[in-house]
Amino acid sequence: MAGDRYKGAAVSSGCAIGRAVIVKESAPDVSGARFSGAENERRRLDEAAQKYITSTKKLIASLKNDGRFDNAAILEGHLAMLADPFMLRRMKELIGEDSKTAEQAAEEVCSSFSRMFDASGDELTRRRSADVNEIKSSLINYLCGRGEEELFVPEDGCVLVAAEFTPAMTSRLDAKRVRALVGERGGATSHSAIIARSIGIPCVLGIENAASIFKDGETLIVDADSGEVLVSPGGAEAKHYEELAKKHTQSRLLDEKYARLPTVTKGGCVKKVFANIALPADAASAADAGAEGVGLFRTEFLYMDRESPPGEEEQLEAYLSVASAMGGREVIIRTLDAGGDKHIPYLGIPAEENPFMGLRAIRYCLKNTQLFKTQLRAVLRAAAQGNIKLMLPLVCTQGEVIAAKKLVLQCESELEAEGVPFKKGVPLGVMIETPAAVLISDILAGEADFFSIGTNDLTGYIMAADRGSGDVADLYDVQNPAVLRAIKIVIKNAKAAGIEVGMCGEAASLPELVPRLVEWGLDEFSVSPAAVAKTRRAVCGCP
Ligand code: PEP
Ligand code: MG
Repeated sequence: MAGDRYKGAAVSSGCAIGRAVIVKESAPDVSGARFSGAENERRRLDEAAQKYITSTKKLIASLKNDGRFDNAAILEGHLAMLADPFMLRRMKELIGEDSKTAEQAAEEVCSSFSRMFDASGDELTRRRSADVNEIKSSLINYLCGRGEEELFVPEDGCVLVAAEFTPAMTSRLDAKRVRALVGERGGATSHSAIIARSIGIPCVLGIENAASIFKDGETLIVDADSGEVLVSPGGAEAKHYEELAKKHTQSRLLDEKYARLPTVTKGGCVKKVFANIALPADAASAADAGAEGVGLFRTEFLYMDRESPPGEEEQLEAYLSVASAMGGREVIIRTLDAGGDKHIPYLGIPAEENPFMGLRAIRYCLKNTQLFKTQLRAVLRAAAQGNIKLMLPLVCTQGEVIAAKKLVLQCESELEAEGVPFKKGVPLGVMIETPAAVLISDILAGEADFFSIGTNDLTGYIMAADRGSGDVADLYDVQNPAVLRAIKIVIKNAKAAGIEVGMCGEAASLPELVPRLVEWGLDEFSVSPAAVAKTRRAVCGCP
């Protein structure tokens, strides 16, 4: 009712006003499903699981590209849960033993997992209950023939209210359409809260019966600093909140203005704000967002979700399409960074105790030179027509760079002999994302045309903390003095050698870190397309 106010937990700060849109939990009606024989039910279950896996992997790729690693990690957790041999096996057993339909089997098994997690005394385990419920509804949706296309698209400028925001739902939210989130379940450490914070939407959770108290279309004020939600207040109170919400929106709009401005600090230093992309189609949003170039093209996504690697012509086409979408602006193509958290089954990377320290990235490519050379040839050919540079991931030794350069020279000679047009001497950059590379960055600077600091991996390796592990999340901190010192050393060594140095890890878009990076002399900030304007604003505000 107008004037009412409710208190919940403020989990993502800010203030917003908008019309309530209540998200109804609409579990599909499966009561009519009839058992169609064990073999057929098992096949239906496998197909639904496969559809869910494919669509979630796609979503993970796009989240990673937008720098939303927290979200991606949550969804990767869902895939891991579904991959638990016990889960699908138990569903199939129920189909065989009890003549259950695939829908009933999914419902029963997931619900029993969920009850088990709910009963745990440990917060992290309880959090998994929401995850398993999400897997359940996705499987059942696919079994009923409801897929992604039926996902909820909110109206512009609304406040979304739901009993529970599932990670997949929040992952697909367009921050530009939704002003705030209000939910019944979940707290500051719930996955929805993590996601709301990462996209900067004010969010209040823990309001009992929110989805039935609030009505579609009524005006809600969400003060996600105090944790209050107010229904259509009047007078001075309304004015106060309008001011607060205006400030919040203005700050966002001001960010957007910077999409079209040059990157120059107050002291007149010219810098560059580039974008990270994962798929050729992302280049258009990078250009739209005002990126002055692509600072990191994560090419491994071209290799994923298929049975064999992309050939030279296919890669050439992909690289040229990015170069053309960027209209002559620089494009830095990182060579295949497979392994670690990037699974590409057909590459045959052996299962290792610790894949992050195993055969991955440049290490794999130098052992599989045929595959590597196909990529190098495509890049050299694309560089004949576009403003393209090459970059090597996860370098640890000078020898790795020398070996890669040798292969580039070999590709040049072969292309020349074949009479295929290509560019000679394509600039070659080295990613600095291991402690070893930091410590020999003076030596590597003699081999490279530029550096790009990969703080995502670098932070993990320096702090010996996995970015996906909740238990050591406090250690995975790019602002830890150990990581900051490493960054400073790399920039200093690049400057001393007269080569450009950029940063393509998430830290490049942290407003609180940007002034230091500018002070130390970082030349280029490569961030997700969504963070280009905000990062440029931060750089332009530096002395
Ligand atoms: C990094 O490690 O900082 C980086 C940019 O590479 P990726 O996130 O793709 O591992
Ligand atoms: Mg990396």
